[in-house]
Amino acid sequence: MRLRNIPGAKDAIESSPYVIHEPAQNKGRWNEIFKNNHPIHIEVGMGKGRFLMDLASQNPDINYIGFEMYDSVLLRALQKMEERAENGNTLPNVFFVRMDARELPLIFDAEEVDKIYLNFSDPWPKERHAKRRLTSRQFLERYDAILKSDGVIEFKTDNRPLFDFSLEEVNESKWHLVEWTYDLHHNEKMNVGNIMTEYEEKFSSEGNPICKLIAAR
Ligand code: SAM
Repeated sequence: MRLRNIPGAKDAIESSPYVIHEPAQNKGRWNEIFKNNHPIHIEVGMGKGRFLMDLASQNPDINYIGFEMYDSVLLRALQKMEERAENGNTLPNVFFVRMDARELPLIFDAEEVDKIYLNFSDPWPKERHAKRRLTSRQFLERYDAILKSDGVIEFKTDNRPLFDFSLEEVNESKWHLVEWTYDLHHNEKMNVGNIMTEYEEKFSSEGNPICKLIAAR
């Protein structure tokens, strides 16, 4: 997702209280940002952030950080946070970072993150771009560097080639599959408590089955 350039987006992000601007300075002490010791869950490539905000409002005892690399997309998430605040629904357990997820090991210590969500990640269909896919072995190594030893990755997509690639990458790395399905919305067990992302709503309404995997080490 890359929205066209929005004038003023950079300034709005720079002055937003919901954005952490120097994330590397918090390495090893993210809990100070949240002022508690609750677990930290992150979403990589969160887009407009609705999934993360819905999760956060259901789980006030979990801290959430959403990562998005484009200003124009992050701006939409900030606008939603502002709307929530205007309606008295603030989310003190949510912050955002504008960053390429390749830098995750620079901003978190080992074992600092409890869970990683990847939703409808860009497929990068050309083979030469495989390492840019957020479920590539290169990214799995980055997640390994920051995730608690009992932490998990949850990945959803409607893109079958990307999902099959992800199953292979998990199997060929130090990770293993805990659960997976090619049709989440018809899988009674895995669909319990499922929160739909913006892309999930769009693609499932077009009739595409949603794949999901959970991976651990
Ligand atoms: N997760 C949302 C959803 O399911 O509705 C958005 C899905 S959208 C297809 C993927 C998002 O991931 C885009 O907004 C893109 O900018 C972001 N993204 C892709 N690669 C990224 C990276 N390396 N670091 C941070 N964000 C990334």
